Parts: sequence; C-alpha cells; structure tokens
Amino acid sequence: MKEIILLKMGELVLKGLNRKSFENKLIANVRRAIKPYGEFSITHAQSAVYVSPVGECDMDGAAEALTRVFGIASLSRAGECEKDMEKILAFTAQYCEGELSSVRTFKVESKRSDKQFPLKSPQIAAEAGGYLLEKFPHLKVDVHEPDTVVNIEIRDEMAYIHAGRIKGAGGMPVGTNGKAMLMLSGGIDSPVAGYMAAKRGVELSCIHYFSYPYTSMQALDKVKELAGILSEYAGRMNLYIVPFTKIQEHIKKYCPDELTTLVMRRIMMEIACAQAERVGALAVVTGESIGQVASQTLQALMSTDSAATMPVLRPVIGMDKTEIVALSRKIGAFETSILPYEDCCTVFTPKHPKTRPSVEEVKAAEAMFDFAPLIEEAMLNIERIRINPGE
Ligand code: ATP
Ligand code: MG
Repeated sequence: MKEIILLKMGELVLKGLNRKSFENKLIANVRRAIKPYGEFSITHAQSAVYVSPVGECDMDGAAEALTRVFGIASLSRAGECEKDMEKILAFTAQYCEGELSSVRTFKVESKRSDKQFPLKSPQIAAEAGGYLLEKFPHLKVDVHEPDTVVNIEIRDEMAYIHAGRIKGAGGMPVGTNGKAMLMLSGGIDSPVAGYMAAKRGVELSCIHYFSYPYTSMQALDKVKELAGILSEYAGRMNLYIVPFTKIQEHIKKYCPDELTTLVMRRIMMEIACAQAERVGALAVVTGESIGQVASQTLQALMSTDSAATMPVLRPVIGMDKTEIVALSRKIGAFETSILPYEDCCTVFTPKHPKTRPSVEEVKAAEAMFDFAPLIEEAMLNIERIRINPGE
C-alpha cells in the first residue's frame, strides 16, 4: 500500500493575487524540509499539497518535519487506492481501522476532481458511511461534531483516503513577508520572538554580540544551537557574530554606570540596523517585553528605538514570562536557553541601572566617547555562520 502526506494550506489561501507566489514559496519550503527523508514528488491542487514518496522514504520523519513548516494548517497521512468503488470501500475500512476503532462518531466527506467517476461526492460519502457503519457497529454518524472525519478524494489518477489530521504549524510561508534581523541572545525570549516573526512569513537573519572572554565560547555554542533550533522552523539562515568586547569595555570606562546598559542597547541597535541594511532586511526583531527588566521600561525602549533606522519588532512585547516559557518549551528551545552560560557578563551589568531615563540623558552618556570608529571596526569584523536545519 502506498501512502502520501496531504497538506492543507493555511492562511495563504486568502491571499488573492499573491496566491501563486505564496504557494510556490510554501512548496519550496516543503521540498527543503523533507529533503533529508528521501525523494518525493510534490503536487498541489486548490488548497492542498500532495507529498508523494518516490521509492524508499522515511515517511514518519518527513511528516514530523512538515509539522514545523509555516503556512500549513493541517496534515494527514493518506492511503492510495485504485479508483473502483468496491476497492475504495474495503480499503477505507482497512486503512482507517485504527482511527475508527478509537472513536464513537464519524462522518464521511468526499471530493472528486475526476468528474468521470461514476458516483458523485454525496453518493460516495453516503455509500462509504453505510459500509463503515456495518463494519464498525459501535460507530454512529454525527454530521455536526464527529470525533473523526473520513475523507475520500477521487483524483485524476487515484483515490486517496484519510482520517484524522495533525495540526500544522499555521502562519504564513517563511519568505513571503520579507526579511528581518533577529537580535539573538542566549536567553529564553529572543528565540521565541524569532519563532513568532518567522511564523508570520518573515525570513530571518540573526545577529549576536559576543564579548569574549567576558562571555565564554560555550555561551557562543549555545547561541549557535538556539539558531539551529530556530532554523527548524525559520529555515536556513545566517548568524552574524559581532565582536563586542572593545565596545563594552569602552562603555564601562567612559559612560556613567547607571546608563551603561542603555548605551549598550543603543549601540547594539545601531549595529543591527546597519547589518540589516547590508543584507536587505527590513526590520529588527528583539525579545523584549514591557517592564521585564530595567532596560525594557517604555522609557528605556524609547531610548533604544531612537538609535534605530528601521522598524523594531518585538513579538513578545505583551507576553508574561510564563507565556514566553511555554512557547519556548513548545518549540524545543527552553532546555538550551536555560543552560547556565551567561550571555551578558555581570562585569558589565550596573548595580543600579536607571529605569526611567530620558532619551537625551542616554544620548549624552553615549556622547562621552566617540564610539563611531569602534562600531565601524566591529562591523568590519562580523563573522558569518551558516545555520541549516537538522545540523
Ligand atoms: P533574552 O531572554 O532574549 O536574552 P532578556 O530578557 O535577557 O532577553 P535582555 O538581555 O535585556 O533581555 O535583552 C533584550 C533583547 O536584546 C533580547 O531579547 C535580544 O533580542 C537582544 N539581546 C540581548 N543581548 C544580546 C546579545 N548578546 N546578542 C544579540 N542580541 C541580544
Ligand atoms: Mg538576555
């Protein structure tokens, strides 16, 4: 018996004129996601994508990978059957036995794109419904809220049968809504912020500020690992490592202690925007949430934003830490995020950071030293690391 994976496209079906390019992007992302699991042929019709193995394939692996592809509302494994009603009935009972044994109510839905097929959709559904009731006497039909829906699709070549579906990742295909630069720390919040931006179809590049030896090589490995986890959803991406030690040392030396964090955040923002421009990104994404720490009060965010030259997206801005943690766990980042390596060395964290600074105050603090040459030097020495899902 041959099985395929049937994908239902999500929100992109709404997208009028852009629909074609959305579909193409989704299919390209699907193709890339399942590549490690064998050779597949991919076709689509209406709002469904048919992923069909060519020879030996790891279907479980492919299905699992597809649950992380944005733009897919749901997926199901479907069995392929010859287009003969007798055979379809017997096959449906056999293929859906597991699912039907575990539920009490069901209904059959049918679709045919092959208009030559002798039965019309409602007839197919009625016949199959009657047949399954006989085969599984414990079942009842419920057309309004069935425990499961048995689907019979008559396509041009073959019939496809499936029951039960897995929820897809939702959202929009990555790459359909431009590119953004994610400021990726080793913490809990920024990977979640990146996940949320990617879910809306935004392609990501990541930037990380690295203050070796104040922060360790293990801390950097952790960031790479987080980028790898994120790429399972966001697709391959570049991680830019900015040598940040000198800048931090000079902030510490020349700026008032209570404002060092905010000066640092402005310089990080300036570099993120410059690097974003270099690579064609249209926004910066951060993991900030209102009031979570001193540098995330509205006043502090205002000071950071005034150093930006493009929109700053903060997808977790209104989320509680517990909500962010729940999402972090769901995407599989949490265990890595809480590894003990500090991403911002205590050496550089002031004891009493100012929580309600004016933008002028922070700008004045920054002006106590000419950071431009150091910023330029850091930009020149940015290292690029390629991040591929599954590595
Ligand atoms: P996170 O859990 O994401 O580290 P946080 O609550 O620790 O966030 P901060 O350390 O103030 O908050 O950082 C706020 C945001 O600034 C982070 O979410 C991230 O987007 C960015 N950021 C902080 N440190 C770095 C870094 N070393 N490199 C890149 N981005 C950073
Ligand atoms: Mg942090």
